[in-house]
Amino acid sequence: MVRSILNKYRIKGGTFDQHFLVETSYLDRIVAAADLNPEETVLEIGAGIGNLTERLARKAKKVIAIELDPALVHVLHDRFDAVENIEIIAGDALKLDFPEFDKVVSNLPYSISSEITFKLLRHRFSLGILMYQYEFAKRMVSPPDCKDYSRLTVDTYYFADASILMKVPKGAFQPAPEVDSAVIKLVPRPAPFEVKDEAFFMDFVAGVFSQRRKKLRNAILNTNYMLGIPEVKEVVNQLPEDFMGKRAENLTPEQLAEVANMIVDLKSGSRGSKQDSEA
Ligand code: SAM
Repeated sequence: MVRSILNKYRIKGGTFDQHFLVETSYLDRIVAAADLNPEETVLEIGAGIGNLTERLARKAKKVIAIELDPALVHVLHDRFDAVENIEIIAGDALKLDFPEFDKVVSNLPYSISSEITFKLLRHRFSLGILMYQYEFAKRMVSPPDCKDYSRLTVDTYYFADASILMKVPKGAFQPAPEVDSAVIKLVPRPAPFEVKDEAFFMDFVAGVFSQRRKKLRNAILNTNYMLGIPEVKEVVNQLPEDFMGKRAENLTPEQLAEVANMIVDLKSGSRGSKQDSEA
């Protein structure tokens, strides 16, 4: 069915990360994992020729399908204009404002995986079932002390519980990508640890992981152009050696938040004492 649509519209794929999921068993497993009910609105990013879209629409109240490639937008209109519960949005998912949705289910364009995930994680929704490159998926769920543990892991964990639901082989797609893929289940929830200044915590995590081979002390000093910590040397000297002598990749998200919170406290303390002395 999926192959016949590709043939009918002479779609070859390859550009815009176009790897169409042709193995119907995987499409069915993705839809089953989304556990949709007729009250729910689903967002789909990169709808392609609508192979997943049509399955989602059978279970959900509404599917909002975003697609960048005008040739594929044409196919989607051709196939679904008569289907009441499918809305097609032509455009770049990175630039569009997302509408309200309950769940997001997508076989994502891999070259925008990071940006689209960071964008999604800042939205309110109950469940994400998302296909990524397998290597990327492993980075989202890695424990500390591993090479895959990264800024992406900590940011993901801050916003949601993430787990790998299934690995998907290259051969399930047409054209086949060069690497295997995996479907991630993302369940947004409040952060399981305290963060006193979210924007600073995000910058801190980005900064220290950009220097992942350095001990935390040097990573903070080297990236202070991003962090903007006043009197950074004195601040770093007041932080516990247990943390400063380790690398970011050896600290749990909770421990990284603890350090970021201590810096926030020291920053506000130094601002307070400066104001006191100026008064
Ligand atoms: N949903 C189809 C499937 O499961 O077979 C296609 C998935 S394919 C991996 C990714 C799709 O995302 C392609 O149709 C591509 O044109 C589209 N795409 C690429 N970049 C995009 C962007 N920035 N915004 C929206 N769609 C994009």
